This record gives sequence, C-alpha cells and structure tokens, in this order.
Amino acid sequence: MALRLFNTLTRSVEDFAPLDPAGKQVGMYCCGPTVHDAAHIGNFRTFVFADLVRRHLEFKGFAVRHVMNITDVEDKIIKAVHAAKTSLREYTSRYEAAFFADLKTLGCRTPHETPRATEFIPDIIGLVEKLMARGLAYQAPDQSVYFSIEKYRAGGARYGQLLKLNFEEMRVGERVRNDEYAKESVADFALWKARAPEDGAVFWPSPWGEGRPGWHIECSAMSMKLLGPSFDLHVGGEDLIFPHHEDEIAQSEGAGVQPPGKRFVKHWMHGAHLLVEGKKMSKSLGNFYVLRDLTAKGFTGREIRYLLLTAHYRETWNFTMEGLQGARTSLARIDECLAKMRELAAGTQAAPDPALPAAFTEALDDDLNISGAWGEVFKWVTQMNRQFAEKALTPTQAASALAAWERVDSVLGVGTSPEAEVPAEFIALLEQRQAARKAKDFKRADAIRDELKAKGWVIEDTPKGARLKRL
Ligand SMILES: [Zn+2]
Repeated sequence: MALRLFNTLTRSVEDFAPLDPAGKQVGMYCCGPTVHDAAHIGNFRTFVFADLVRRHLEFKGFAVRHVMNITDVEDKIIKAVHAAKTSLREYTSRYEAAFFADLKTLGCRTPHETPRATEFIPDIIGLVEKLMARGLAYQAPDQSVYFSIEKYRAGGARYGQLLKLNFEEMRVGERVRNDEYAKESVADFALWKARAPEDGAVFWPSPWGEGRPGWHIECSAMSMKLLGPSFDLHVGGEDLIFPHHEDEIAQSEGAGVQPPGKRFVKHWMHGAHLLVEGKKMSKSLGNFYVLRDLTAKGFTGREIRYLLLTAHYRETWNFTMEGLQGARTSLARIDECLAKMRELAAGTQAAPDPALPAAFTEALDDDLNISGAWGEVFKWVTQMNRQFAEKALTPTQAASALAAWERVDSVLGVGTSPEAEVPAEFIALLEQRQAARKAKDFKRADAIRDELKAKGWVIEDTPKGARLKRL
C-alpha cells in the first residue's frame, strides 16, 4: 500500500510522492525550538511526531534529509537576553544544549542539519532583497521592512492557503511588528526589524540599516537554502499554521524562486496540541512539564516517548501521570516477551518474520495510524507469549520474531533495554553513593539508596560494579 498522509494545504489525505523523479530523496523541514526556555512536553509531542514521520519514511526506503532550525534570535529571546544581562550566544547556547539532550533522552534521531538563524543572516537579507525587488516588501517610516499582503494578493497569489482568512476587516497597509499575532489581526508582517534600544547588542547591518530578522523569514531562508526552493515536506505544531507557516509560504513563493508550477512545499503536516491532566498546560495550574520534571519523577525517556506516540498526531490528546504509569506497564509487557524470545533464541540468527512488519506498516501507511500499529504489536506479543507457553516455538522462530521486532522498533524507537535508560540524575546519585561508601560515610550512602528506592530504582551490585535496576 502506498503511504498516505494528510496535507494541511489541501485538507485531505493524499498519496505521498516525493518531488525526486526517482522517488527516493525526501527533503523534510521541521520548525525547531525557540531557545529561550526549556522546551515543554507539548513541544516534544511535535518533535517526537516529526521523528515518527522521518523514521517511517526511512523504514519505507526513502532517503530523508531532515532539517530542523534553531530559532536563536526572536522577540522573546531578545527580551530574555536583556533581562539576564548576558550575550545572545551565551544565553541561547544553554537552552540549545539542553534541547538536544532532551531529544536524545526521547530517542529522536538527530536531524541531518540544525541551522541557527543567526548564522544565516546574509541568506535572510538576500531573500528580503528579492522581495523588495519584486515590489512585495517595503521599508516603513519606522525603518523596518514589511511584507505587503496587498501587493502579494494583487499579483494573483493567495494569502491564506493553510487556513481561511477574512480580508474584509483588514485595513490595507496596517502593520504588525510582533512575530506572533492572531488571525483576526492579519496585517503586513515584519521581514527585517529596525534596531530598537531594547535590542541591546543584538543587531546586524543590512541595506535598510541596522536591525534583525523577523521570525518567519528565518525559516523561509534556512529551509530553501538547505533543501532547495521547492521541497517535499514541512512539519510543525498546529499552533504554527498561522501566522508562521502562512507567512513562510508568502515569503518563499513571493520571492519567485521556485521552478514553474512548483510550490515552496508540497506537503504540510501539523501535529495537534496536548492537554496535560485534561487542561491546557500552564505554569499557574502546576501542569506545565519540561522533560526534566518527568525524569525527576522517575520516568524514563523511553516511557515518555511511548506515551507521546500512543495517540494519532492530528488528535488533541490528554497527557497524564496515569498514562505514564500505563506506558511503563505496556513496555514491560513487550520487554518480558522479548526477554523470553532472547532466552529461547540463545544467539541464533534468522531473517525477520514478515507478518508483524507488514501489518504494522499497513497501519502507519494510513496517515500514521499509530494506535493501529501498536494494536498489531500487542496482538503479536500475545501470540508470541501463547506460543512460548505452549512450547510451540523453535529457537529459529524466536530469532525470527526478534528480528521482526527490530524492524518495527526502527520506527517506534522505544528500544529494548531499559537499563540503558537510567536518567542522568540517578546515575549521578549512584556515583555519589559509591563515593560515600568509599569515604565510609554509610549513613549518607544508605540515605541515597533510600532516595533512589523511593524514585523506583534499586542498586544492584554486580562484578562490573554497582548499577541501577527498576524496582
Ligand atoms: Zn519555522
């Protein structure tokens, strides 16, 4: 079955066919983090979703080039840099490093390119110059450069491709300088923002005076530079549909750099929001989680990834602590089954049994029907357990089952080894406990042991040293 995916541009589920005439190369861009704060669990739902898209494409034999930008200059960052009295680079590098560590914890494949906006300023300026030359951008009395929606539409282009916009209320030439605005306030948006006193040292020279890029143009410039002016797939959270992605289309297609008849992006995919404990995440409600909050409660990246991968990407879905407990139980079921297969196979090698990968792929080919895919996995687990109990499996069949799981897990990415997933803070605690024992501070060593136990981990002394095991 061909891969079918929902395209926000056409609002329908379509066959996925890359632009590459050989049908092999896929250019995929995902809007990355704005590095002004630790990314929260809602952000990670989007990144795990993008990882699933990529992994499934790779599973199907496509050669994916995955680009994810780092927004390291933008309104919120500048405010934070100003408040922290530090430099832009110093401020953003901390959050950038934390973000990549979190991606790793969640088992996401690293994108092939992770461009930083501040390193693409000449490309951004070049793109604004193209829009100026085509009469679609203008410098306003405030010295900033704006995109003219009126001129763009007058040339026959459509503004409002990803969602319906009401132009009757719109006042021509009205401008919005902020990067984020509601669709009710659709207006000419900033491409280049003239330097303001509150920008501090964050500015670059340009043909229009000192300033900095707007957020939307950053993604247009970086994606087209790295994937070409027309590419296959653009992924992001649904909150980015407007204005960010709509503006990306207007700028990129307005610059007229695509080959005739080709779009900036062929296929747009958007991941839905996440609720936490039934409510919109907010710091005041106490349901605002960054990844560290969850690993500190003793959950592993693998368990969190599993839970984020249980609902269909276009469904608004409720993330709960109970769900995380359920994720632990479900993964334990898989692990237990695999352990039995491993014991029986005892190192025998065999080609994968095609049944599980075939049923699994069929589900995912249907617009990433992940619950159907998990359904196939658990049906398989039940069947393997039964056959094992009936002693109906040979070592070769067990090896073949393990190889089938490997295939499927290349998409799911939940792995099979929970021990390798001990969160860093618990490893640090274990080291402190070893140090305390060495120093004969047994009271401290015992206190650490109890603390680890309370978090769900026991210390196991092995010939290779102490290690942590789940309770
Ligand atoms: Zn973007």
